[in-house]
Amino acid sequence: MQSPHNNKISRLVIAGGGTAGWITAAVMAKTLGDTVDITLVESDAIPTVGVGEATIPPLINLHGVLGIDENEFVARTQATFKLGIAFENWRVPGEKYFHSFGFAGQDCWACGFQHFWLAGKQQGVAKEYERYCPETRAAAEGRFSAKALNYAYHLDAGLYARFLREFAEKLGVTRVEGKIQHVDLQPDTGHIRSLQLEKGTEVEGDFFVDCTGFRGLLIEKTLRSGFEDWSHWLPCDSAFAVQSASVGKIVPFTRSIAHASGWQWRIPLQHRRGNGLVFSRDFISDDAARALLVDNVEGELLAEPRQLHFRAGVRRRQWLKNCVAIGLSSGFLEPLESTSIHLIQRSAIRLAQLFPVHGVHECEADEFNAQAYNDYEKIRDFIILHYKVTDRTDSEFWRYCRSMSIPESLERRIALFRRTGKIFKEPSELFSEESWRQVMMGQGIEPESYHPIVDTMPGENLKHFLSSLEQDTVRKVQSLPDHETYIAQHCAAEK
Ligand SMILES: Cc1cc2nc3c(=O)[nH]c(=O)nc-3n(C[C@H](O)[C@H](O)[C@H](O)COP(=O)(O)OP(=O)(O)OC[C@H]3O[C@@H](n4cnc5c(N)ncnc54)[C@H](O)[C@@H]3O)c2cc1C
Repeated sequence: MQSPHNNKISRLVIAGGGTAGWITAAVMAKTLGDTVDITLVESDAIPTVGVGEATIPPLINLHGVLGIDENEFVARTQATFKLGIAFENWRVPGEKYFHSFGFAGQDCWACGFQHFWLAGKQQGVAKEYERYCPETRAAAEGRFSAKALNYAYHLDAGLYARFLREFAEKLGVTRVEGKIQHVDLQPDTGHIRSLQLEKGTEVEGDFFVDCTGFRGLLIEKTLRSGFEDWSHWLPCDSAFAVQSASVGKIVPFTRSIAHASGWQWRIPLQHRRGNGLVFSRDFISDDAARALLVDNVEGELLAEPRQLHFRAGVRRRQWLKNCVAIGLSSGFLEPLESTSIHLIQRSAIRLAQLFPVHGVHECEADEFNAQAYNDYEKIRDFIILHYKVTDRTDSEFWRYCRSMSIPESLERRIALFRRTGKIFKEPSELFSEESWRQVMMGQGIEPESYHPIVDTMPGENLKHFLSSLEQDTVRKVQSLPDHETYIAQHCAAEK
């Protein structure tokens, strides 16, 4: 893969202008400044995927790196704040739990808070686990403050791409409108030489980023990277998405509502609500899925439901020759836990860190590919957990999920937690131990034992410890403003 001339990379071309294209453009422009010319090619005739409206907390770091003002961003993208996800009907119909971005109680050096909670539960002195987490309580009470809580955003994907475009263009990124008809390769190396546009223009580059979405026009259609299919673990392959008018209060969380075959999202924005149903066509027909969504949308539909198809899995090599895939072109897990924009952010920053200024070398590509694959793999396990660990047996879909085989890495984690209440995360992993324990317990795993250090604490002390933690949580949350009031005071969008 060594570049034949070891040429300096001075022309970076990004193909595609969805969330992936414009995040990549913004990050690269901010990092590389004038040392590289950046051109982004997008076609007005090919729409972006148009979904992807729930995010997770690390996006705040990306905005920090870029120097984006939070209140301006929220107002411009009709955003609201997200404290986590309410999972309804996932373990059994009629039950719900909350996966928050916060932390419950207090860990000690030897073990996590869940061990104290488990002992407290056995002794009858612990309340529900969620009552010890400020973010979960604030979500239930509709309160929010950016100063006091861990949070992310719900945003309008179209407005976000426009916002980032303006940001990137100010930093010198050139936008070229046009449909890419052909990708031209260098005959000797097989590296990409240029993009040929339908209108006759040719866009030459030294290095290319494929942000063309599921098409993977450069990385797959041209360079044939290959795809590792994970759909046997994540069987959902379709979604209907539709926007509706807002009804009731704007809550600071996403709702994820499981149905007999799949699940539905509700994402509150300032000006509307985003809805979707994620399902597998092996278990429910398109017509039935569409009807299920429409029947379960509150408020007037603002458009016809749109269908999207996908396959869970990852591109075998996300960096191949002089091309890196970022966004849906690099792979997709599924929308549960809203991790796709995060993977874009990770890859854009990774590319900025590994950017091959003096020519493409295999070692940089190998490092990029190993890190990117690891990101996908770890998130994959966390998402599979939601499907696998359930008590639902009311449909073919859930019976399949309960009985399917799962990756050995996940099997090990579940077994350890079930037996001992212990959970460990690798340093580069996205989801914290707290996320794992919230979802494992929410989905119905009850650890059989807890760490013995808890028994060194006399019973009265444990009771006092738990009740003071709960009181602290109540006090903290009661001091916070209402979510809608917070938005109105700091970052309301123009009507
Ligand atoms: C059902 C569903 C729900 C999702 N929900 C979430 C969520 O809640 N949170 C989250 O983080 N992510 C979510 N995602 C993922 C998220 O939508 C994407 O990661 C994000 O929108 C980035 O998409 P993209 O930019 O890679 O591709 P796209 O949005 O498809 O953009 C592709 C771009 O390439 C251009 N293009 C394509 N072909 C050509 C061509 N031949 N010539 C010129 N230009 C071309 C298009 O014009 C467009 O600009 C969801 C995805 C799906 C399918």
